[in-house]
Amino acid sequence: DRLVSGTTNYEESAIEQSLRPQTLSQYIGQDKVKSNLSIFIKAAKMRQETLDHVLLYGPPGLGKTTLATIIANEMGVNIRTTSGPAIERPGDLAAILTALEPGDVLFIDEIHRLQRSIEEVLYPAMEDFCLDIVIGKGAGARSVRLDLPPFTLVGATTRAGSLSAPLRDRFGVLSRLEYYSEEQLANIVIRTAELFEVEIDLQAAHEIARRSRGTPRIANRLLRRVRDYAQVRGNGKITILLANEALELLQVDRLGLDHIDHKLLKGIIEKFRGGPVGLETIAATIGEESHTIEDVYEPFLLQIGFLQRTPRGRIVTDLVYKHFQLEIPKE
Ligand code: ADP
Repeated sequence: DRLVSGTTNYEESAIEQSLRPQTLSQYIGQDKVKSNLSIFIKAAKMRQETLDHVLLYGPPGLGKTTLATIIANEMGVNIRTTSGPAIERPGDLAAILTALEPGDVLFIDEIHRLQRSIEEVLYPAMEDFCLDIVIGKGAGARSVRLDLPPFTLVGATTRAGSLSAPLRDRFGVLSRLEYYSEEQLANIVIRTAELFEVEIDLQAAHEIARRSRGTPRIANRLLRRVRDYAQVRGNGKITILLANEALELLQVDRLGLDHIDHKLLKGIIEKFRGGPVGLETIAATIGEESHTIEDVYEPFLLQIGFLQRTPRGRIVTDLVYKHFQLEIPKE
């Protein structure tokens, strides 16, 4: 597993659960999303209505699941959690929907991966809080309408673009999560260190933040590894010196790039003079699937301006040469 990946693994999920902020005020950053949600939540509570359906989108690890939990907490209702790939048949979704209590939040992670036939069950449920089910077969089959308790659907996706238009249109609130600033990530690191009851220098918190690719999940993961190092090599307190040593050992560089990023970027420089080079060619040279490069490796490199996509292929920018202290080639 990649240390700097935004996605989570099974082992991590219990720890993550314990680190999740419980209220909007504990949730650091994403100010626009927070202030919108806080108004909608207050209004819904004043009218004693359920909150409108909410779609949260943005890269993995930015806090979508956390926000869904907070929405339920702030509304004072229960949350039921599932994911697009986990719902295999329309009946699975019907079972979940009929078990909800009035006002509950239903959280569907990776909602863009719902099958079409299941999406169709969701439309009347979202719109009219009802379920159309077919009983019997052949000529004797008939459709019955079942009332559902009113609920709030919170959907999360890494790509709003891959959601079908009819599904997207049924959400009243669409919120896009952004990468976090160094300052915000440092605050998240400090908060997590407090929960771990470990002392950390402000400088060390910033160092971890800078290497976390704008992503709280990565910041918390790096903090855990640095904490281990500080415990074994020092007296437990995380100083800037120990943090730097640990991160060096973990091979996460000053910008949060790891050996895979290095291989990709240096490959383009050394074999293709910095590009342009097609995605398929890059994939073949570094021995990776092209969709993995596109979905997993590239987004952060594009985000920090290290890679550019052009009609003729990918090119590395001057920033990459500077980062590796290489001479920028003349045209
Ligand atoms: P996503 O669902 O977008 O993949 P999560 O909600 O699971 O991300 O968040 C990953 C981890 O990062 C959680 O353990 C949570 O503690 C932490 N986290 C995310 N956003 C914030 C935030 N705004 N403030 C504090 N911690 C956060």
